[in-house]
Amino acid sequence: MPRFFDHAATAPMRTVAQKAWLEHADLLNAGGQYASGRRARSVLDESRESIAELLGCEPIEVIFCASGTEADNLALQGLWLNKGRGKVIASGIEHPAVLETVRHLESQGAEVTWLPVGSDGVVEGYREAFEGEASVATLMMANNETGAIQPVQDFCDAAGRIPVHIDAVQAVGHIPVHFHELGATTLAASAHKFGGPKGMGLLLAQRSPAPSAVLHGGGQERGIRPGTHDVAGAAATAAALREAVEEMHSEQQRLTALKETLRSAIAGIEDTVIHTPEDSLPGHVHASFLGAEADSLIMLLDAQGFEASTGSACSNGVNRASEVLLSMGVPYTTARSAVRFTLGRASSEEDVAELIAALPSLVERARLAGMA
Ligand code: PLP
Repeated sequence: MPRFFDHAATAPMRTVAQKAWLEHADLLNAGGQYASGRRARSVLDESRESIAELLGCEPIEVIFCASGTEADNLALQGLWLNKGRGKVIASGIEHPAVLETVRHLESQGAEVTWLPVGSDGVVEGYREAFEGEASVATLMMANNETGAIQPVQDFCDAAGRIPVHIDAVQAVGHIPVHFHELGATTLAASAHKFGGPKGMGLLLAQRSPAPSAVLHGGGQERGIRPGTHDVAGAAATAAALREAVEEMHSEQQRLTALKETLRSAIAGIEDTVIHTPEDSLPGHVHASFLGAEADSLIMLLDAQGFEASTGSACSNGVNRASEVLLSMGVPYTTARSAVRFTLGRASSEEDVAELIAALPSLVERARLAGMA
């Protein structure tokens, strides 16, 4: 069994989610005006209600879609269209699902204000940016690479009348999220990050302003995400989210303790830089092992049965320095030697102890191989 340290990329599917999925896999068209349609519709409605209760919103505000990436696209492009294609405010540490969408809007004529980020990986400068008009402002709730929690509540409060999209893909199911208390206009989540099925995204969208349609079709999901419903996927997402929220407190405590153990062991290895700040997701440790190429270390770890990643999107298999780390002011070669370890439900004390025992010699071997 590999020891899995890449929970931020995807989490193993929970048994409750698998059961819910199998139980409802043969349901038919939730849009059908006949008995089988009503059966499918009632499972879809129950799943929507359950998710709404768990995330602090109304059922009508829950829009099922196919991924976190899709939720981010529907929200950002849709709000930008709704608000007359004006200015966009975004941070430079966003996931490509947001970053590339904002760059696309820029190519379509949007003026973009890129917010600066501190060396702790936390976004800054939004109050000044909010002084003018904008069509949409966007910020992630927690960063996928460093795990740094972002000041989303203050961001939403300070935005005033500017619509705000929050990418909560790394947060939902791991730290408390309440859509109405937050006051965001839209929020994105992804089921596979909290033990639900892959290929299920959630977009929470206030009634008004609502994203204009980017996809066109049959009018399902308030016309924001048309297409025949994946009822089994919705049921599995609701089941996974319920369990994740129910065990959130105990998992937070368990993982934070494991994370601290791993973090101090890494800090004890010579010439390492830890990029994960104090206020971070419970399972993240992102660190640079100076003089070692991240890709070499990941391969050496893999050969010993430890699965970890850089956490940043690489382009055509070419290892580039993480844009997140560079925007935090991390030097290029330091960024090239960064590996992300993310703990989750499948992580045990033994896994962490074995990783800690193996790391120093693997780092030494990666350093001997040098930087490419
Ligand atoms: N946003 C963040 C912060 C993420 O970490 C990810 C996935 O890693 C996404 C969006 C995209 O989610 P999905 O994989 O469901 O498309």
